[in-house]
Amino acid sequence: MNIQINLLIGSLSLFGVHDTKAQALHMQQPDAEKPNVIYVFPDQFRNQAMGFWNQDGFRQHINFEADPVHTPFLNEFARQAVVLTSAQSNCPLSSPHRGMLLTGMYPHNSGVPLNCNSNRPISSLNEEAECISDVFKSAGYDCAYFGKLHVDYPTANDPNNPGEYVEKQRPAWDAYTPKERRHGFNHWYSYGTFDEHKNPHYWDTDGRRHDPKEWSPLHEANQVVAYLKNEDNVRNPKKPFFMMVSMNPPHSPYRSLNDCMEEDFALYKDQPLDSLLIRPNADHLMQKAASTPYYFAGVTGVDRAFGKILEALNKLGLDKNTIVIFSSDHGETMCSQGINDPKNTPYVESMNVPFLVRFPNKIAPRVDDLLLSTPDIMPTILGLSGLSSAIPNDVQGSNYAPLLLDKKADITRPTGTLYIQNIDGKKDASGLVQTYFPSARGIKTAQYTFTLYIDRQTKQLKKSLLFDDVKDPYQLHNLPLEKYPDLVNQLCSQMGLLLKQIGDPWYNEQILSPQIPY
Ligand code: CA
Repeated sequence: MNIQINLLIGSLSLFGVHDTKAQALHMQQPDAEKPNVIYVFPDQFRNQAMGFWNQDGFRQHINFEADPVHTPFLNEFARQAVVLTSAQSNCPLSSPHRGMLLTGMYPHNSGVPLNCNSNRPISSLNEEAECISDVFKSAGYDCAYFGKLHVDYPTANDPNNPGEYVEKQRPAWDAYTPKERRHGFNHWYSYGTFDEHKNPHYWDTDGRRHDPKEWSPLHEANQVVAYLKNEDNVRNPKKPFFMMVSMNPPHSPYRSLNDCMEEDFALYKDQPLDSLLIRPNADHLMQKAASTPYYFAGVTGVDRAFGKILEALNKLGLDKNTIVIFSSDHGETMCSQGINDPKNTPYVESMNVPFLVRFPNKIAPRVDDLLLSTPDIMPTILGLSGLSSAIPNDVQGSNYAPLLLDKKADITRPTGTLYIQNIDGKKDASGLVQTYFPSARGIKTAQYTFTLYIDRQTKQLKKSLLFDDVKDPYQLHNLPLEKYPDLVNQLCSQMGLLLKQIGDPWYNEQILSPQIPY
């Protein structure tokens, strides 16, 4: 398209057509150079749950065995993308992750230190923050959001008066997002959080509710395809678009065919548990083990929904000028470490997320071990889109676009990425959470996972985790700190520096000082 226009402009010039006409022609494609962006992020999709990791070209880059999952579309996509082995969800919990993703700031600055629900008015996306969608909007993009948002204090919607939120009762978790809180997204098909996967609902741009009775990732993929085709004339085809697609599955519950598609479940239902839960750190005796085939069915269904989006891009000829990223909120422990909590831990199953970026003719497919942090995602996407100069000053993450575009780029690679865990702090008489407590901080380096937990009253060290992820990729041996004083000092220094750089509460309160030299 660009070449044709340029040729046309060139030939018009040859025939002596005045420059202004050529400019006018050019104006019809003002943003032809700007790439479209699609960011797809399911909820509890761990990095290990992608089949290509066991294939040639990928296997040699990792030291674990991939889950026995069917992900044909991701497998093909990975061969067209830069694939990160070590992208981390720094605070692996829905709302804090999403706050970082949208603002490029850590949880103490994004407004979202805790999972959002109606008991936590202190955790809600900072309305003043310039989010990634605000920047794209200012750069002339159409911006669309599909699926789960879960980053705001829940607000109700009046079904008889769409667009107004006048109900007295606040919903516990789910939320309608009024227009003034949509941060530049001018197309909306979203909800707060809701876990009936075959009975989802969405509020559209005008606040109307839809209850499609369809498995949510497939329904969302169909909505995305309709947007790409511009079926209802909802986007300006002359503008580039920025789109976020947040699929809830794979996400609990994982217990029946209400949670996944039967054809996907059929792939796993007759497999013995030993052949599914292959990680040596998984406890097969846990009640949750029965969820495994449903979890993997969710993974395969999401793969297919993602494939539908890719297919539509190809058919519409949009694939060449569209950056497509596949990542996840955080992982899923699925019986690893014998814990029920699927997330919110520094274990590799919880923190390590997929991160694949396809940008045809710009990014050469390869595997890279960049230790990407969640706040890096916003500036990196803006960098890839040619909008480095528009990265807001408040952003705390780094722009690694030069590195994705060229593995030899002269750019300093991070040597560590933070782990952050906050819990509820003080509550008022009615039980509303007024503060948060920074219960654990840690650092993940190329070799180690290190986390310190503190006591709520004394703020002294309560528990530690230290794993050598090179020698012990399944994190079976928690190393005692007293046996490795030099290593612990080094990791504390590295972590202290990062906490200081971001102005974390641990730095401000000098927690565990002087063990951590800030
Ligand atoms: Ca989540």
